[in-house]
Amino acid sequence: MNLASLLERAARQHPGRPALLLGSELLYSYAELADRVARLARALREFYGLAPGDRVVLFMSNEPAYLELLYACWWAGLAVVPVNAKLHPQELAYIVEDSGARLACVSSAFRDAVRRELPELRLLVPNSTCYAEALLQQPLPMESVEAGDLAWLFYTSGTTGRPKGVIETHAMLLAMTACYFSDVDPSLGIDDAIVYAAPMSHGAGLYNFAFVARAARHVVPVSEGFEPAELAGLAESVGRLCLFAAPTMVRRLVDELERLGRGGEGFKTLVYGGGPMYVEDIQRALRVMGPRFVQIYGQGESPMTITALAREDLADVLHPDWLSRIASVGRAQLLVEVRVADEQGQALPDGAVGEVLVRGATVMPGYWNKPEASSAALRDGWLWTGDLGVLDAHGYLTLKDRSKDLIISGGSNIYPREVEEVLLAAPGVREVAVVGQSDREWGEVVVAFVVADAGVDAAALDALCLERIARFKRPKRYEFVAALPKNHYGKVLKTALREPLNPKET
Ligand code: AMP
Repeated sequence: MNLASLLERAARQHPGRPALLLGSELLYSYAELADRVARLARALREFYGLAPGDRVVLFMSNEPAYLELLYACWWAGLAVVPVNAKLHPQELAYIVEDSGARLACVSSAFRDAVRRELPELRLLVPNSTCYAEALLQQPLPMESVEAGDLAWLFYTSGTTGRPKGVIETHAMLLAMTACYFSDVDPSLGIDDAIVYAAPMSHGAGLYNFAFVARAARHVVPVSEGFEPAELAGLAESVGRLCLFAAPTMVRRLVDELERLGRGGEGFKTLVYGGGPMYVEDIQRALRVMGPRFVQIYGQGESPMTITALAREDLADVLHPDWLSRIASVGRAQLLVEVRVADEQGQALPDGAVGEVLVRGATVMPGYWNKPEASSAALRDGWLWTGDLGVLDAHGYLTLKDRSKDLIISGGSNIYPREVEEVLLAAPGVREVAVVGQSDREWGEVVVAFVVADAGVDAAALDALCLERIARFKRPKRYEFVAALPKNHYGKVLKTALREPLNPKET
């Protein structure tokens, strides 16, 4: 089944329902959106000469045309390659070459830079004259595709090395959507509105399907991104907002709502994930906004779908295991199996730390043109996530860290996150990243990079660690810095912190 049939179905069943908004201004109903998509699809096939299976790069900021171009490509039987608009044109050039894309849809602001870097590549710019002409084509009947055909070539955010293209098929993304209804937001209704505050090239965009399937509303912020004050305004004017947000975005939104003296009114569901949410932060978010949160854990290789921590779990403050549950990433989503395994892939008993493996309907068939990387990631039918975790008796998974971030000091394992949680509880500490530095005596020692208000000192942090964690886990050194290095998705680049400490690390 073609993903675009979700749109065709919504347009048939609910033609007059509002589909796409820019801020609080309605642009198109579902019937209008599907009509535009079918016309663009014909232009892609006939004017741009693309054939089913061809790849189309989207190098665009979050703008209304994003949604219609995604669907136009699928409608025409093409595959999309959404690229984070914050990447440098040279990084884009690598992805264009690696994917073999024959066309790039590019926001007008990036047109000149892309043309300079890739003079041979054909470009389609939303809202240009060519775009207006494309919309005058006769609607194309939807192309049929195989379930296993490539739909979305998803370049991993790459905290190290070159990004790899994950093959995401129509079937995988439909399974991901079924899991959304089962485990993330079973009460998603036609009056709900997804707001694209995070890049549509990533998780936020992947969540469009559930909202198309329900014929619910899609809102592109006028700022094209995440502005806490704008979101607070949209909560009032649009209402029933749902969004996917990185943990840092949740923190900034909660700051803004507190500043305004407001709570979670106007927000329906905030799904967070993509990186660790610290317990202090989610507790405060729940206090300020109420039971509107769901956590997901996924990775490009099993998009948005490994585990979910349900709204009810997060809200169940009186449960004796509440604190450990909100520190977990929840339980396996409906269509995947999750295992914590030893180095041979054998399941470990509950309570033991090992690598998280996943198998099921949302797991990729492999990386694009990377057979070696594919067979390293997929072994005996399981995806090896590179994350370390531990399961409890009720199936809750707690992530420890990426296996490469683990610190081994004096033969003992130290999970950076545990130390980070303690340091974040200190007043005035805003962000922390804990890494290992190689050491002749201990193998590695713990170093903490801290972003903090003036007046926070190492002695106070050390005293807090002594109160809360084993002595050997305490940082040997604190580096106070103005900001932590992050990639374009806001993930902390621990490799960049480790490199100067460990000159031989590759
Ligand atoms: P990406 O493929 O770029 O989305 O990155 C996926 C990685 O982000 C995972 O393998 C985890 O290391 C991390 N991640 C995703 N979701 C969570 C979460 N809820 N909590 C902690 N880490 C997460």
